[in-house]
Amino acid sequence: LSPIHIVGGGLAGSEAAWQAAQAGVPVILHEMRGVRGTDAHKTDGLAELVCSNSFRSDDATSNAVGVIHAEMRLAGSLIMAAADRNQVPAGGALAVDREGFSAAVSAAVENHPLITVVREEVTGLPPEEWGSTVVATGPLTSPALAEAIRLETGADALAFFDAIAPIVHRDSIDMNVCWYQSRYDKVGPGGTGKDYINCPLDEAQYNAFVDALIAGDTVGFKEWEGTPYFDGCLPIEVMAERGRETLRHGPMKPMGLTNAHNPTVKPYAVVQLRQDNALGTLYNMVGFQTKLRYGAQAEIFRMIPGLENAEFARLGGLHRNTYINSPVLLDETLQLKSRRGLRFAGQITGCEGYVESASIGLLAGRFAAAERKGEPVRLPPATTAMGSLLNHITGGHIVTDEEPGKRSFQPMNINFGLFPELEPGSITKPEGVKRFRGKDKTIMKRQLIAARALADCRRWLESE
Ligand code: FAD
Repeated sequence: LSPIHIVGGGLAGSEAAWQAAQAGVPVILHEMRGVRGTDAHKTDGLAELVCSNSFRSDDATSNAVGVIHAEMRLAGSLIMAAADRNQVPAGGALAVDREGFSAAVSAAVENHPLITVVREEVTGLPPEEWGSTVVATGPLTSPALAEAIRLETGADALAFFDAIAPIVHRDSIDMNVCWYQSRYDKVGPGGTGKDYINCPLDEAQYNAFVDALIAGDTVGFKEWEGTPYFDGCLPIEVMAERGRETLRHGPMKPMGLTNAHNPTVKPYAVVQLRQDNALGTLYNMVGFQTKLRYGAQAEIFRMIPGLENAEFARLGGLHRNTYINSPVLLDETLQLKSRRGLRFAGQITGCEGYVESASIGLLAGRFAAAERKGEPVRLPPATTAMGSLLNHITGGHIVTDEEPGKRSFQPMNINFGLFPELEPGSITKPEGVKRFRGKDKTIMKRQLIAARALADCRRWLESE
């Protein structure tokens, strides 16, 4: 068999190389560290953790991150095996000794008889002669390769910062206060005229909200990130500082919207949320990218009428990153539609986090290996954590409404909002329980989704 080439020996690239080699396919792994560094990595070790040493919750019964850990273990993940062997105490979380972890991944990859590690920077799009290739160069992809990807995919297809607006679980929004309506009832492509959820603020609520934004604690940019205020994509708190009326004339403008619960009173300001996934379970707060600290965000955004009990699938941010517009560019097997055989994996595809990046590497390695062996490429079921994340990246993200062409795909961690809903009637009051409240239902829902994911993942792996 001719080798698969993998570019980038981080979390995703190391896992992809391991999976392909374990499937019996030779791999050449190109990693630039040793020859050229990045702004965040400090060593030459494979799978270096650039910041925290935590892989987050390891609870596979009711936490989406724990579920993806468990699925990866079932699939023989090198990243999870190395993490488990180098675990340090961290309560319910899986935290690792970062040096031991990276050393374990490096040794497993470098000593695998089917993997050759080449220390070099790949400065252009991988040549066609390489055949099957996985690009897993991460959020700090070297500039020369990033430019080559931008030329191949188009100027709008590669982002260098993620300006993330908070994403809210739809079922935590109070629809007795909020209502569905697109501004001026405009019906865009694929839209209904009711594509947004609107939260009304009166003058006093607006002023209190602006004051809280201005007073909120923020996180600074790292020196190498620069200050990426661009394209009118200002953090919400910076807009608030520019003048009391700025937000009311920007993302919080009330024009073209009528409060369905109180049509005669014009809202003083409105916060709009836009559907964020095809399932309709997640909504993002339009124009609310922010550098506020996470704790401050949850507190301040819950001041918005209708969001008092909001559960956030992810909070907002503004970071240096490199990622492609995957829902448009990639097919369901992570292959670039414009160039067959060239796959992407890891954070560059628009997932976020160590484990998520590794899981997409795991899938890319398996898909490339199956193809190389002439076997069918088998996608994980959409009900699994890996399948849900893959689906979000390659197609589940929705782009509709009044701003056709506007790029809205933002990096995402695994969370229960990405999983398909349960069959109706699955959540029932357990026998002998007197009070079965909303919180109990949420816990049961998560447990059922987690159990379904693991059962379906087992079936998927056993049917190989
Ligand atoms: P990486 O692990 O970065 O691997 C990419 C590899 O490709 C690197 O080894 C790099 O040297 C190599 N490479 C790049 N360009 C080339 C080239 N042209 N040729 C050859 N090799 C190349 N996630 C968390 O879960 N927790 C955190 O605390 C966390 N902190 C982060 C902090 C920062 C500053 C950043 C930027 C990201 C952070 N992330 C964090 C997000 C993300 O999960 C990690 O960056 C993760 O390592 C991504 O995995 P990856 O394999 O996609 O990329």
